[in-house]
Amino acid sequence: MNDRLTGREPGSGVAARPRLTVVSGPSGVGKSSVVAELRRLHPAVYFSVSVTTRPPRPGEVDGAHYRFVDRAEFDRMAAEGELLEHAEYAGNHYGTPRAPVEAALAAGHPAVLEIELQGARQVRRAMPAAQLVMLVPPSWEALVSRLTGRGTEDDALVARRLAVAKDELAAEAEFDVVVVNADVRTAAAELLTWVLTDMSD
Ligand code: 5GP
Repeated sequence: MNDRLTGREPGSGVAARPRLTVVSGPSGVGKSSVVAELRRLHPAVYFSVSVTTRPPRPGEVDGAHYRFVDRAEFDRMAAEGELLEHAEYAGNHYGTPRAPVEAALAAGHPAVLEIELQGARQVRRAMPAAQLVMLVPPSWEALVSRLTGRGTEDDALVARRLAVAKDELAAEAEFDVVVVNADVRTAAAELLTWVLTDMSD
C-alpha cells in the first residue's frame, strides 16, 4: 500500500513524485461542486487558485475562488512567465499561477487544477506527466438544464457557453480519464482515486 498523500512506498524509502491532475469539462457540468467535495474529502490536496479578469459573481471571494485581476496585471503575469497556462474563455482571461503549483508538488502534495480545455492542452505540453481528467454530464440535456437553471448569466452568455461546451465534450479522447458527474459525491470519490495516484503507479 502506498501512502497516498506522499506517494511513498512504506519501507522502500523511495519517494514517488505526486501528481498534477487537471480537471476539465464543460461549463455547467458541476466542476466547482465536485472539486469542492474533493477538497472536503481530502484537505491536504493542493487546489490551485486561478487569476481571472472576469468580475466576481455574488459570493465569490478574492483569493479563495479566484484572484481577480485587471487585464494589465494578467498580461504582465503572462509576459513574465508567472502562469503555467492561460486562456481566453467566453470573453475573459484565466490563468494558473505557476509557483504555488510547483511548490505544492515539490513539498509532496498532489495538486489539482480546475481549468478549461485550451489550458488543459497547454499543461499536457508543458508537463507531460500531468493527468488529464474530463468531467462529463450524464447527458447533453442535463448540461443544458444545469446551465440555463444557474440564473447567473444572461441568455446570450448561456448560448455561448453551450457552444463552447460542445467543443469541449468533443475533446474527450485527449483525456486520460473520463468521470461522469451524475452525482457529486460519487464523482468526487472517483476523482479522488485518480488525484492520489502518484507517478510510480
Ligand atoms: P467561470 O467563469 O465559470 O468560473 O469559469 C469559466 C471556465 O474557466 C471554466 O471552464 C473554468 O474551469 C475555467 N478556468 C478557471 N480557471 C482557469 C485557469 O486558470 N485556466 C484556464 N485555462 N481555465 C480556467
